[in-house]
Amino acid sequence: MTRERILVVEDEADLREVLSYNLSREGFKVSPASDGGEGVRAALTEKPDLILLDLMLPDIDGLEVCRRVRQDPNVGATPIIMVTAKDEETDVILGLGLGADDYIAKPFSVKEVIARVKAVLRRGHASVDDDPRRPLRRGAIKIDPARHEVEIDGETLQFTATEFRLLHFLAARPGRVYERDVLLRRVLGDDAIRVDRNIDVHIRAIRKKLGEQRDVIETVRGVGYKFRD
Ligand code: CA
Repeated sequence: MTRERILVVEDEADLREVLSYNLSREGFKVSPASDGGEGVRAALTEKPDLILLDLMLPDIDGLEVCRRVRQDPNVGATPIIMVTAKDEETDVILGLGLGADDYIAKPFSVKEVIARVKAVLRRGHASVDDDPRRPLRRGAIKIDPARHEVEIDGETLQFTATEFRLLHFLAARPGRVYERDVLLRRVLGDDAIRVDRNIDVHIRAIRKKLGEQRDVIETVRGVGYKFRD
């Protein structure tokens, strides 16, 4: 069994060491980073399985690190647990909808951090990423990638390939907010140069076809889109 790698981005040396030591003891490989720039570089080169990310960092803050990681097509899906100084900061970050997978407020117990890390990793493994052909059911909507069909209340709807991929991607990750250009790269990849690059147009078409279910795709103002959790 390969051990999972955790990237710990934390500028306080004591805290960084305590976290690194305890995560190692739990069997994880740990990459420590002491500022945001180092954190981004380590995320891109070491491709960790999870990032434990302090919000307040001396150079670029945790939000910017989160944004840069999310924008990278190779590591953009890495689970991120954001560590904040107080609960109010957590509220602010939640409001920004930047797509961290969990939040921990300082002061925290090491036990709590390890429990959260394990929970987020478990959730990640259970995600549809492992099996993109698995049919999804979200309320009244059934999405079947193998048959390339979307069904609502027994009625089969016609979607273009791009619309289908976009809908399936978002539906597989309910509650996660994706910026438009991230969606373009993650969903369309190399095809992005061949199809209409305007994500909004595709989203509009998907909503129209979903009819009464249109609200499952939510617009997060100033950020992008998410599938309703
Ligand atoms: Ca800090």
